[in-house]
Amino acid sequence: MSKMRTVVVTGSASGMGAATKARFEADGQRVIGIDIRDADIVVDLGTAVGRQAAIDAIEAQSDGAIDGLVTWAGLAGLTRSAGSRLVSVNYFGSVALHEGMRPFLANGDRPAAVVISSNSTTCQPGVPMDVVERCLAGDEAGARDAADAAGAVATYPATKTALAWWARRNAPTADWAGAGIMLNVVAPGAVETPLLQASREDPVIGHLIDAFPVPVGRKASADELAAFVQFLLGPDARFFCGSVVFVDGGTDAQLRADDFPQPMA
Ligand code: NAD
Repeated sequence: MSKMRTVVVTGSASGMGAATKARFEADGQRVIGIDIRDADIVVDLGTAVGRQAAIDAIEAQSDGAIDGLVTWAGLAGLTRSAGSRLVSVNYFGSVALHEGMRPFLANGDRPAAVVISSNSTTCQPGVPMDVVERCLAGDEAGARDAADAAGAVATYPATKTALAWWARRNAPTADWAGAGIMLNVVAPGAVETPLLQASREDPVIGHLIDAFPVPVGRKASADELAAFVQFLLGPDARFFCGSVVFVDGGTDAQLRADDFPQPMA
């Protein structure tokens, strides 16, 4: 029997995080869940204090060695939400955990990490690039100001674009690939979860959720996305490095067929 692996899952209380936790546990792996509620480690990843508390707790509970990390914790871009909160939870809450747990991953067995983006990065027009740039510059205060000016609906794909670029910048470096840690990105499309339902109930943008084209003709289940993340964190995905994989029922392909791959200039 193979050795039990330790996998850290943020957003483990609901939706795709909960489905991922259930999959790994059904496979006999150890999962340490992090969430703002109902988790092994209860913290607010939208704050620096909460992020550090999560990193410290993981170090204590894992003896500083983990084999996998996936950061599902995130907020939808609803019209009543503050853009600044999305910046702090979605972008800085994810990046701080990947950076903080990188040394624990380096001590792990065939370690891998997955960042959660979204197909809103390429399928929602009007991404505020100042939010993206300030996120990537590590300027949380500046990104929060720009996000409040842009609003949460537009900020959502900005946080997810910044996450994908952060991962692609870092995945091939000595700290990640060079340390044997495979870092990749999953960009889901419409997945039936409480987050999608909350978006559907938004008084302004709600009607767009089910109008969005999905060529396979349905939404994904949370477990379908969990299955792919389990593969990326597993032993058969060791040549995935810096990939951004759209798991979206064909929406991105339908809207932007020839935009990717782009030949080198
Ligand atoms: P969900 O709302 O069911 O789960 C999100 C989890 O994150 C919840 O358990 C919530 O408590 C936790 N969380 C929120 N704020 C937090 C904070 N400050 N600190 C700690 N935990 C916090 O949502 P889901 O649909 O499973 O989404 C998971 C991820 O997938 C999100 O990052 C979302 O942006 C992304 N995503 C979802 C869809 C979709 O259609 N559902 C599509 C693309 C991307």
